[in-house]
Amino acid sequence: MTQVTLKRRGPITLVTVSGRLDGTAADALYRELAQDYETRHAALLLDLSGVDYLSGAGLRALRRLNELTDNLRLASPSDRVREVLQISGLDTAFNHYDTPLAAARSVNAVTNAHTHLELTWAASLCPRMAGQPFLEWIQGLVRANMRVRESADYTTVFRHAAEAGIAALIEAGTTHVGDITASGLSIEPLLESGLAGVVYMEALAPWSKIADERFERARDVIERWRSKERNGMRIGLTLHAPYTVHPDLWRKALDYARAEQLPLCIHVAESPEEYQYLKAGTGAMAVHQANIASDIPVPYTTPVRYLEDLGALALKPLLAHAVQVDADDIRRIQASGSQVVHCPRSNLRLCCGRMPLEQFLAQSVPVYLGTDSLSSSPSLDVFEEAETAVALHHGQVTAETIERLLYRPL
Ligand SMILES: [Zn+2]
Repeated sequence: MTQVTLKRRGPITLVTVSGRLDGTAADALYRELAQDYETRHAALLLDLSGVDYLSGAGLRALRRLNELTDNLRLASPSDRVREVLQISGLDTAFNHYDTPLAAARSVNAVTNAHTHLELTWAASLCPRMAGQPFLEWIQGLVRANMRVRESADYTTVFRHAAEAGIAALIEAGTTHVGDITASGLSIEPLLESGLAGVVYMEALAPWSKIADERFERARDVIERWRSKERNGMRIGLTLHAPYTVHPDLWRKALDYARAEQLPLCIHVAESPEEYQYLKAGTGAMAVHQANIASDIPVPYTTPVRYLEDLGALALKPLLAHAVQVDADDIRRIQASGSQVVHCPRSNLRLCCGRMPLEQFLAQSVPVYLGTDSLSSSPSLDVFEEAETAVALHHGQVTAETIERLLYRPL
């Protein structure tokens, strides 16, 4: 009995074959995959880990597919398949990879540039389609997060959440990720995952009195893991957002990032509440800051200008969201060489508005797509994110342009 499943993901068709690959099954497989290739021109990846018998007909089908596609990629061939390829002298005729993910990475990057995988446990907090105001949502997330972090098994919860998130990314055809971790617990599973990209250790401090401690905690985690970077996965730093980071922390952390040349990520200009608070010191976020007795001074400028004044833009950070921006902000982002991540589904669910994607692209600012965490997004599938972006920016940005944003490696 032969079982074949096909997953079509952008530039790739991933085919999982299990059981016997012989006779009529091999002919049927060839016909189906040849048609798929001729229609989609997508790279063919064959996961052969479950094949327990490969006949002459099966081998012939693989050779014909190799000739047709010019480059058939075999992922994790079983011992039985390896043996047959060796005996027939064909083991060098095909490109082999240890895993389907390694094979996918050899084709093209598929990047989800903004996740918080350790928050995969928080899917129940994701607002329904009608949305929830940003500030209300983040207050709920902070409360739920504190409850989990006070529980005895929180490291297990976060670690399992990160592992489940990684599995969801790979299932969705992702090869590169930009992940944020506040606990440091997603670092090790990401280094082991085979995904490339950056995992950013997060620091925030709404009060000056905790700035040093928060900086040192993040630095310790970064220094513990940086020497263990591998598989194209790097360690970076993220300062959460302008309204949660005291200038004392900005100063220390930016000096450190500059000296160590760390990849840097910042949430910025995400919500109308953030914009109004930073620009005018008013609105719901101003009330919130007063309630928690934050001693971050109001900068009375736009979120992006504030980052520039702090010296953060000069470090070319990856800016998450960048929805609440004007033409001058976009020009400053472009001039700094910074990049942005567009997360339209999270923006819509958190009532943050539409990022002016067409203006960023007109200024040649590098734009990535990201799903954000499951606490504000219905899935970790960046292809679904792209579909929403196509609908949201219809008439402003073409679908082809949006699809290309997926394939920019981080
Ligand atoms: Zn985020």
